[in-house]
Amino acid sequence: MPKPLTDQEKRKQISVRGLAGVENVADLKTNFNRHLHFTLVKDRNVATKRDYYFALANTVRDHLVGRWIRTQQHYYEKDPKRVYYLSLEFYMGRTLQNTMVNLALENACDEATYQLGLDMEELQDIEEDAGLGNGGLGRLAACFLDSMASLGLAAYGYGIRYEFGIFNQKVVDGWQVEEADDWLRYGNPWEKARPEYMRPVHFYGKVEHHPDGVKWVDTQVVLALPYDTPVPGYRNNIVNTMRLWSAKAPCDFNLKDFNVGGYIQAVLDRNLAENISRVLYPNDNFFEGKELRLKQEYFVVAATLQDIIRRFKSSKFGSTEVVRVDLTTLPDKVAIQLNDTHPAMAIPEVMRILVDVEKLTWEKAWDICVRTCAYTNHTVLPEALERWPIDLFQNLLPRHLEIIYEINRRHMERIAKLYPGDDDRLRRMSLIEEGDMKKINMAHLCIVGSHAVNGVARIHSDIIKSSIFKDFYEVDPDKFQNKTNGITPRRWLVMCNPGLAEVIAERIGDDYMRDLDQLKKLLKFVDDDAFIRDIAKVKQENKLKFAAYLEEHYKVKINPDSMFDVHVKRIHEYKRQLLNCLHIITLYNRIKKEPNKSWTPRTIMIGGKAAPGYHTAKMIIKLITSIGDIVNYDPVVGDRLKVIFLENYKVTLAEKVIPAADLSEQISTAGTEASGTGNMKFMLNGALTIGTMDGANVEMAEEAGEENLFIFGMRVEDVEAMDKIGYDANAYYNRIPELKQAIDQIAGGFFSPNQPDLFKDIVNMLMHHDRFKVFADYEEYINAQDKVSALYKNPKKWTKKVIHNIAGSGKFWRRSEPLMTPVKPALLWSFHKNLQNLINGSL
Ligand SMILES: *Cc1c(COP(=O)(O)O)cnc(C)c1O
Repeated sequence: MPKPLTDQEKRKQISVRGLAGVENVADLKTNFNRHLHFTLVKDRNVATKRDYYFALANTVRDHLVGRWIRTQQHYYEKDPKRVYYLSLEFYMGRTLQNTMVNLALENACDEATYQLGLDMEELQDIEEDAGLGNGGLGRLAACFLDSMASLGLAAYGYGIRYEFGIFNQKVVDGWQVEEADDWLRYGNPWEKARPEYMRPVHFYGKVEHHPDGVKWVDTQVVLALPYDTPVPGYRNNIVNTMRLWSAKAPCDFNLKDFNVGGYIQAVLDRNLAENISRVLYPNDNFFEGKELRLKQEYFVVAATLQDIIRRFKSSKFGSTEVVRVDLTTLPDKVAIQLNDTHPAMAIPEVMRILVDVEKLTWEKAWDICVRTCAYTNHTVLPEALERWPIDLFQNLLPRHLEIIYEINRRHMERIAKLYPGDDDRLRRMSLIEEGDMKKINMAHLCIVGSHAVNGVARIHSDIIKSSIFKDFYEVDPDKFQNKTNGITPRRWLVMCNPGLAEVIAERIGDDYMRDLDQLKKLLKFVDDDAFIRDIAKVKQENKLKFAAYLEEHYKVKINPDSMFDVHVKRIHEYKRQLLNCLHIITLYNRIKKEPNKSWTPRTIMIGGKAAPGYHTAKMIIKLITSIGDIVNYDPVVGDRLKVIFLENYKVTLAEKVIPAADLSEQISTAGTEASGTGNMKFMLNGALTIGTMDGANVEMAEEAGEENLFIFGMRVEDVEAMDKIGYDANAYYNRIPELKQAIDQIAGGFFSPNQPDLFKDIVNMLMHHDRFKVFADYEEYINAQDKVSALYKNPKKWTKKVIHNIAGSGKFWRRSEPLMTPVKPALLWSFHKNLQNLINGSL
């Protein structure tokens, strides 16, 4: 068999990857050597692989600089409406390859490093992931930055430069162990510190009411030091900015109240202030009400708003520089998009600036605030909703608490007028929740303070209107919108799956990279045997490559002819990794019962991090690895069933495993997964989906045709109906023998022979208080999996379904609307024209 082409070789075949012209290559080599000498201060005798990575990164970075400066200058001069995407998470992953792809430099760099005797892919693998996110929410922010730059929008990402991102996960004896993610240890070539733009952020203190206004005094100050990272658009010469703030203690920190011998301690205590940007909270879909987290949330908001208002005031009109003093036009020039409620403090902070500092009336300030801000909801799970205790606020942000009370007073007044005497409605809609401990409901604050509220998939946007935000929808129906999530096709196809990108380009040309609806043209080739063969071949090559990667890095050998059944996402009860476990055990028991039957071989890979404080999630990981320890070493099973736990799932691992997947597991309880974005990455990369009618799966089925996915289980309506009568796990357990056998095995220590009661909490949960109704979907899930196994035996039929999926995935990687915030049509049009000027190379 001929050796499969390497990714580099494939890339050379694709002209859209940029020409490796002789001049380009010669220049790159010169600059690489210059950086090795002047920047890294090394020669080739002593340079390490990491030095070569940094030399290459700096060489590529040089190509961003001119475009970056010109783009920002252009924004300053043309003064378009700016989009500010505020997020506590930006799950960026690596930057080098993405930059080369978007600048069409990949082929030239590949050739240059080759001529220098280096392997570019090996150098790329040295880059640390920027893991400043937990999962889908943070990755969405990163994808939006790429898309907004590619659309030519004057967009900025604003967040925190965590010194430690999401922890690194090790698996020791089958248990998750966390390690600190010291991603900045060797330096970050993609960021530029801007100490000249440092801004003060105030905490604590007290509020004074004077005749001439309100003063917030005796505060503690922490400085916010910005670091800028370039965000290049796809081959449009645009480079936007992601600005991340780092906390810095002022020089006089703790030294003002002078006490003898206090100097050394005061310097040591600078850490206290600087801890604000130390570490990302590692919870996905879970609220942890810690003071340090609230500080992080206000820190990013306060620093960012100073930037926004400074930039608004000092823009240019035509050729004349102006200093705007009138803030009433702010909503015409600024859109602030809140990624979940995490940056919700933007709303009271805008009010504080407009009322206390700029001295606007409350009414005028409120109108500006609402027209500027918009809020994206990411979940309906109650444990994920931010509800901050009043006491914390009173102490840390006393003025903001007053402002929130005033917002609520006026909001309650309005509702009371609309619904006289409906006290229960007032209680339900209040921003303040009464109880043992008074709390602020941040989602309510965001809805009231925004002109637009969106869910992240059609089903989710419908659910928020009919359930958690029903009362708000009733009074402001026009506020509520849907913006189904999407992914960037640059990272999630061109970059991670060049073989597939190429096979598509061979049939429909490379225009689909800009106009993604054109993927539909692939439907013409659904019966074309050569195309079917090409698609299947790319998948097989990707599987071989991933199998080799697993063998090299994790010392596990897998059968590349088996079905790669992949379930990667954060470990969470609602995502139902336990349902997958029950399928694995069922398959195992069936093979043991009839070892001579021709079973479809499967390699089941499950990966994901558990929040360090989430006990059940950690037990789920231990259960998966324990099942693997029994199944993988059973000689009767052989290589017909293998269970692999993919350690340390992160963006870079996603880029490796998703192109190799045959089957994508998207099996959350209907109504719990707001959208999912992993599901779209798999669809685009030629995996078939087994999934519930939840999140964006619903729209994926609509786009590809439901017959081309394996849809099973309860619909939202079924779940709701079951909640009314009550879910009885025991009934399923007693009725379904294979389910009973699996549960009895877990409970009886079959998978944990040295500790028979190891999984008693999990069994107890499944049997008696399972919020996510695993057993209720067991039977249909197993039946759907049987259909998957049967179809896999017919590669041609399988691949035809794959083609339907790829052809139908355009919806999820096109941002059809440039703004997440609705804008008046006239304005939107001029905005488009602005956009068009930028794209048409006016730079
Ligand atoms: C896309 C992605 C996610 C989100 O996956 P879901 O299946 O939508 O939860 C999480 N983590 C990483 C690293 C991702 O790339």
